Amino acid sequence: MEVLNSIPFRLTPEEVLKRLRLRKENKDMKRIIQELIDIVHPIAKPKAIYKVSYVDNKNGDSLYIDGVRFTSRVLRVNLDKVGRVFPYVATCGREIDEIAVPSDDYMKYYCLDTIKEMALRSARSYLQDYLTRNYALGQMSRMYPGEGTAEDWPITQQKELFSIFGNVEDLIGVQLTESLLMLPLKSSSGIYFPTEIKFESCQLCPREVCSERKAPYDPDLVLKYREKI
Ligand code: SF4
Repeated sequence: MEVLNSIPFRLTPEEVLKRLRLRKENKDMKRIIQELIDIVHPIAKPKAIYKVSYVDNKNGDSLYIDGVRFTSRVLRVNLDKVGRVFPYVATCGREIDEIAVPSDDYMKYYCLDTIKEMALRSARSYLQDYLTRNYALGQMSRMYPGEGTAEDWPITQQKELFSIFGNVEDLIGVQLTESLLMLPLKSSSGIYFPTEIKFESCQLCPREVCSERKAPYDPDLVLKYREKI
């Protein structure tokens, strides 16, 4: 198990504005973002933890990772030929999550929320590059409990995923609540695995309106996953 807690995180107002997808230049917004960046840069510490883990007992709709049982047919099929995987938790970090913004200052709140999201993305992308470099991996995909195919891999299995690491709150400050929320909210957990063909859960998710869609819905692929026992 390794903790990555020196993840670089630098931003420009232009990058934040781009992420906000504003159509018009907005000077007020740019000023607010610059003020937030000045607060964020000295304290931000996005973090990630991962573990090199091994898969066994693959059977029907379940499998074991480091002795912990997971129930997901899609995960089991995706890991059919994979022996080594990388469970992880990544976070924007408590340092920026604890920055206080007046609750009625919607614009500032929204900008800070976007900056936290960008910190989380930095942590995840740093982790992915780190794994690729250090474990000589080619292409990787990732899955997490409760994503678009929630009926396949229930979100309740966040508990099992966290159990692989021990006390994640002590290690990187991420708490898993009784209602299975991660705090800070801008945190992410899942399993990275090597793959020849890139997999995105969006391929199995029929939701029509989703701004986060990463791949088109593929009903034929859904059938293929159902057939593979
Ligand atoms: S389409 Fe949207 S809801 Fe469905 S899996 Fe992708 S990101 Fe999640």
